[in-house]
Amino acid sequence: MSRDSSNVNTERLVKTFCELVETDSTSGNERQMADLIKRKLEESGYVPEEDNAGEAIGGNAGNVIVRIPGNTDAPALLFMAHMDTVEPGMGKKPVINGDIITSDGTTVLGGDDLAGVACILEAVKVLDEQNIPHGDVYAVFSIAEETGLYGAKALDTSKIPAKYAFVLDEGGPIGTVAIKAPYHNKITFVVKGKAAHAGVCPEEGINAIRAASAAISNLPFMGRIDEESTCNLGIIKGGRATNIVPDEVIIEGELRSISEQKLDEYTGKWVESFKNSAEKEKATVQAEVKRAYGGYFIPDTHPIMGLLKKATDALNLPLIPQSTGGGSDTNVLNTKGIPAVNLSVGMANVHGTNEQIAISDMVKATALIVEIIKANAEK
Ligand SMILES: [Zn+2]
Repeated sequence: MSRDSSNVNTERLVKTFCELVETDSTSGNERQMADLIKRKLEESGYVPEEDNAGEAIGGNAGNVIVRIPGNTDAPALLFMAHMDTVEPGMGKKPVINGDIITSDGTTVLGGDDLAGVACILEAVKVLDEQNIPHGDVYAVFSIAEETGLYGAKALDTSKIPAKYAFVLDEGGPIGTVAIKAPYHNKITFVVKGKAAHAGVCPEEGINAIRAASAAISNLPFMGRIDEESTCNLGIIKGGRATNIVPDEVIIEGELRSISEQKLDEYTGKWVESFKNSAEKEKATVQAEVKRAYGGYFIPDTHPIMGLLKKATDALNLPLIPQSTGGGSDTNVLNTKGIPAVNLSVGMANVHGTNEQIAISDMVKATALIVEIIKANAEK
């Protein structure tokens, strides 16, 4: 059976989206956005809460969390979108041209991820208006996703007894679902040499720049390692003056892999190679490895995929599973034990001033949320 998306109030959805876009909400500066979202939920008759995630990271707002009480005993679901947007993101103005919404060209649009926020807010309205049978539905609007998934990391999921979660923070045709994302390590190498006057007694020095160069050029891999693993060195800092043999260089980079085992293996090889090469130049190396976030993989056979298949079929949408090389709140939810996937809301050219989104895609994404909730309540 196929249904159209007519239960979604397109006009209201667009109005909400534009209101969100016009509200400043760069990462760490989500105060006005959190207040707007809370007000909208309250107007719909719900009782949103805000946690203290912002305090931990020096932001001015926390995650906004709301429970839509179920009218059946179906398992609870969580829908999540981040309310922060990237720079340039102050003074955003939506421009509607037919089906397409863009910014005025001076800022990002913030469809990443205000489209996700708008679609969830509209879906919650539809649930109520259409008297749709559903279990408990939780919605979380997170802060500081763009700067390091900080809102999601600080979220107390023990208060959110959701069986599965759907993050609305992807691009691509509606029906696109990220089922795989990498584990991510951050790495910092501090190369220590010995300072000396470059003109008077260079033989007493140990050149940390030379040691670092040797270590970098001898690394066994850079860029793409294999089909599911990548690495990069992105920052290098060091040296004081041309007449001083440099005593310290700091290099920062990252490794990612869908496979945790491979990530550990590649990280180990990098550190070992880097140290060996630098030590040949008589420098010493401190390597610090930090797990930025965990990865995830939701296989075809997972019940989440069954729900998605039912929902996309009902709307005559394709179901397009794919893997992503980026991290999102989805990674954090999976790491915290709530199986989650990341669904497209149609955002395009994200993080650029030419960002855009189609109204028809937001309508479909909203309808998809509603259908997932319906499918979850069907016995
Ligand atoms: Zn995003």
